[in-house]
Amino acid sequence: MSEAMQRVRGMRDILPEETVKWQRLEALTLALMARYGYGEIRTPVLEKLALFTRGIGEATDVVEKEMYAFEDRNGDMLALRPENTAGSVRAALNAGLAGVQRVWYMGPQFRHERPQRGRYRQFHQIGAEAWGMAGPEIEAELILLCAAFWRELGLAADEVQLEINTLGTPEDRAAHRTALIAYFREHLAELDEDATRRLDSNPLRILDTKNPAMQDLVIAAPRLSEYLCEASQQHFAQLQALLDAAGQPYVINHRLVRGLDYYRHCVFEWTTTRLGAQGTICGGGRYDGLVEQIGGKPNPGVGFAMGVERLLELAAERLDGAEPPHLYVVNAGEAAARNALRLSETIRQQLPHLRCVVDCSGTGLKSQFKRADKSGAALALVLAEQEAQTGQVGIKPLRGDGEQIVLAQDELIDDLRQRWSQ
Ligand code: ATP
Ligand code: MG
Repeated sequence: MSEAMQRVRGMRDILPEETVKWQRLEALTLALMARYGYGEIRTPVLEKLALFTRGIGEATDVVEKEMYAFEDRNGDMLALRPENTAGSVRAALNAGLAGVQRVWYMGPQFRHERPQRGRYRQFHQIGAEAWGMAGPEIEAELILLCAAFWRELGLAADEVQLEINTLGTPEDRAAHRTALIAYFREHLAELDEDATRRLDSNPLRILDTKNPAMQDLVIAAPRLSEYLCEASQQHFAQLQALLDAAGQPYVINHRLVRGLDYYRHCVFEWTTTRLGAQGTICGGGRYDGLVEQIGGKPNPGVGFAMGVERLLELAAERLDGAEPPHLYVVNAGEAAARNALRLSETIRQQLPHLRCVVDCSGTGLKSQFKRADKSGAALALVLAEQEAQTGQVGIKPLRGDGEQIVLAQDELIDDLRQRWSQ
C-alpha cells in the first residue's frame, strides 16, 4: 500500500453507519448537560506544551510517555491535547470567567499509547468541569450527572460500578508520602523498574501499578486514610452521606489515586466488567490546586472525563440503527433527471420530515432500482422518459406489498403527505 494511503497507527475512521451512534450520543449529551445547567466549551486541539507539563504533571504517564509534543515552525513547543481539563481551565482564565461556573466539552484527545481494543491514539472524551465550589455537594452532583448519563444510555445499574476515594489535602498527603516512601524502601527488591523510578518523584503512582507481581506489596502499603485530618475526613463523610441520600451505590477503593499535587478530596472512577481489560469508562475528581499551578488565582475545581469509544461499545445496541430514506428517486433521460431534481427539492421543502435520495449516477434503471432497494427506502419514485413527457411520476413500494401507482406530478406532495401524515 502506498504510504499516502496508510492510516496512522492508533487513529480510526468513523464511517456513516457508525457516525449515527456518535450523533445519538452527542444529542443525548447536549440535552443532559443542558438539564444540569452546564454550558459547552470548545478549546483548541493544540496547546502550549507547558500547559500540560504544568497542568497534568511531569511525572505522569500521560506527560512522560504519551504526549504528542513537537516544535512548530516558529520554534514554539506545542502539544496535541491529551485531555481537556487543562485547556478548559486555561480558556476560562484567559476569558476572565470567575466565580461559580459549570462547563462541559466533547472532542478528540491524543495519547501515544499502545493501540488495542478500547485504547487508541486519537480518542474522544466527554467531560464536565465545575469551578468555584469547594464543598462535597458539587462532587456529588457530578457523580449523579454521570449516573444519569448511564441511565440515558440504557445501561442497567449493575453494568457500571462507582468507586470513590479521598486524597485529602496536600498536608495529609505529605505525611502519607513520607510513610509510603519509607515502606517501599523497606521492600526495594520487590519494586519493578517503573516503581523504582517513581519512588522519589511520585510514590503515590506506584499504588496504581498494573503489574500483578506487585499487587500484594501495594495492598499492604500504608493507607492515606490513616493520615487524613479531621476536616478531610468530614468532607469525605459528607460526600458519602450525599450519595447515600441520593440512592447512589458506591464502593470505597483506597487504591484509587490521581498522583498529582493539585488533586484533593474526592476522586472517582466508573468501571464496567463488560469491556475486557479497558473497563474504566469515566474518571474524575477535585483538582483545587490546578488553577494556581498554571498561573491563575486559586479557585476550586472538580471534573470528570468519559471515554467515548468505550461508551459507544458499551451502549452500541441502544444507539444503533441508521435511518433509511423514505424515498429513493430513480430517473432515466435528461428531462426526467431535471424533473427528479426539481420534484425532490419540492418534497424537501414542503415535507421536511421526509428523507429523499435522488439517484444521480446516470446508470440504467435496473441498477438504480437495485440501489433503491439497498438504500432501505420505503418507496421508489419513478421518473423515466415516459413520465417526464406526460408530467407524471410512478410510486413503487419497495417494502411490503402495496400497489405501484402513477400520479400527475402535481399530486405527488398531497399523496406523500397522506402516507406520512405527522
Ligand atoms: P487508563 O487507565 O485506561 O489509561 P486514564 O486514567 O489514562 O485511563 P483518564 O485520563 O482518566 O484515563 O481519561 C478518562 C477516560 O478516557 C478513561 O476512563 C477512558 O475511558 C478514556 N481513555 C483514556 N485513554 C484512552 C485511550 N487511549 N483510548 C480510549 N479511551 C481512553
Ligand atoms: Mg492512561
